Amino acid sequence: MLQLKHIFKSYKVGDNVTHALDDVTISFRDQEFVAILGPSGSGKTTMLNVIGGLDRYDKGDLIINGKSTKNFKETDWDAYRNNTVGFIFQNYNLIPHLSIIANVELGMDLSGVPAKKRREKALNALTQVGLKEHINKRPNQLSGGQMQRVAIARALANDPDILLCDEPTGALDTETSVQIMKLIKKLSKDRLVIMVTHNPELAEQYATRIVNFQDGKIRHDSQPFEPQEENDQFNLKRTKMSYW
Ligand code: ADP
Repeated sequence: MLQLKHIFKSYKVGDNVTHALDDVTISFRDQEFVAILGPSGSGKTTMLNVIGGLDRYDKGDLIINGKSTKNFKETDWDAYRNNTVGFIFQNYNLIPHLSIIANVELGMDLSGVPAKKRREKALNALTQVGLKEHINKRPNQLSGGQMQRVAIARALANDPDILLCDEPTGALDTETSVQIMKLIKKLSKDRLVIMVTHNPELAEQYATRIVNFQDGKIRHDSQPFEPQEENDQFNLKRTKMSYW
């Protein structure tokens, strides 16, 4: 359902050029739970941002459900980000002065979902992560693990096909990290999950596939996968993917 083909991405700061992604080719399937490991600066976050449409690749192609993104316009990227991917970050990125439910509704606000529907979807997502009783609290009234659950609910509200997680347990203690990993594992039953992590033990225990990065390249992939034309493409069970 998701393929990176010879993706290159570099950053130029002054005269310095960093090759953050250096010819990355990899395919992912629906319902995989992929952990991305590797040293700091090896390109993990860059790959996540490129996959999520937060950052543009320089060369190569990102193929979503068999469709090239080479000629994507900004409006196509916006639609893709709003409808197909959800993000979770290490520091939760919640808005402190908004209630929990308002935080979850906020993403949908930008994607034009009507208010009543927003509330319904937000409640549903917060129920899925076990926070139904806390919807009117502010983020600072919750524990770290609960705040990460709110962030997960926000990412889930639009029922994304792809969930991208950048160090989601990086700020949590071991016990809470295990709870969050279990929750994300459960969510991967319905979607592709790609998670950057610094924790090889949690990755081994919960992920279905481990990919190691080094110097902008994939050094090891525990379950490499080559799509066989149409049969292996993501099935179009979700009609919202048909906006191209
Ligand atoms: P990782 O997630 O593995 O720690 P990153 O993808 O964040 O690695 O970074 C890969 C390389 O690209 C690093 O050398 C980093 O300094 C550089 N880099 C990432 N983002 C930027 C940016 N916005 N501007 C300049 N350099 C960047």
